[in-house]
Amino acid sequence: MGAMEIERTIAGVRRQVATRRGAGRTIGLAPTMGALHDGHLSLVAAARSACDVVVVSIFVNPTQFGPNEDYTKYPRVEEDDLRKCREAGVDVAFVPPVEEIYPGGEATSVHVGKLTEHLCGPERPGHFDGVATVVAKLLNIVQPDRAYFGEKDFQQLRVIQQMVRDLDWPIEIVGCPIVREADGLAASSRNAYLSADERGRALAVHQALAAGREMIRAGDREPLAITREMRTILEDAGPTRIDYISIVDPGDLQPVERVDRRVLLAVAARFGRTRLIDNLLVDPSTGRD
Ligand code: AMP
Repeated sequence: MGAMEIERTIAGVRRQVATRRGAGRTIGLAPTMGALHDGHLSLVAAARSACDVVVVSIFVNPTQFGPNEDYTKYPRVEEDDLRKCREAGVDVAFVPPVEEIYPGGEATSVHVGKLTEHLCGPERPGHFDGVATVVAKLLNIVQPDRAYFGEKDFQQLRVIQQMVRDLDWPIEIVGCPIVREADGLAASSRNAYLSADERGRALAVHQALAAGREMIRAGDREPLAITREMRTILEDAGPTRIDYISIVDPGDLQPVERVDRRVLLAVAARFGRTRLIDNLLVDPSTGRD
């Protein structure tokens, strides 16, 4: 394995990929916003094991943040991130400045309909357009054979799968399981915002999901009964706000009327000013995901 290359321009990363794209060699891309943790590194490991060349992008994408969201205070720890990439065997790190990706006067954006109607869509207007647009750009810049996304952001994963299918891009979108901290909290760059007290209470997000899964395992099939119990658990932890507790079909992300097939339990809640999301897939016939 050669030394990791760091590229800050589109032309540069394209050159790096071109020189490595030999006969039959596959390229894997893991797009991130940095502040890398074990969740991101699981995407890199999945890419490393399946692809000859691994590219990681680190770019805090302004167009996916709403006006009152955390774009300016989002953690930026480039040196640490590059060290982690190097240790994980990344071949090329693409770390563009904002002007390289959005040189101004952007008139084009990618909108993926239907899948963005529920869950985080209504709470975060424009968010998934920003995500789809930047991922479209990254996929066109790197032109990977496979791109890796976490199930932690399940709706984002589905939106990107839909975009790639609808636009006929020859790229395999690979979903990777949620990586959790030892106590069950889903790893997230935003966990760094939590105070010790909030960090303790935030565990209720996972506990509520786990309780919902237990109810389904025990035979409950009524979404309302299940989400009511989940809400009680979450409310006990004193969140600033619960954005949603939903049981949806993992295919179209529409709410289900009965848990009569595999479902996605999904939660978004705020502790202090930090918005956390998490989910679990549950198959009622097996009780597993
Ligand atoms: P982000 O840097 O938060 O935009 O995330 C970059 C990629 O890492 C996305 O595909 C996320 O879904 C994925 N990711 C973030 N957290 C986790 C986690 N805890 N487990 C698995 N994947 C994750």
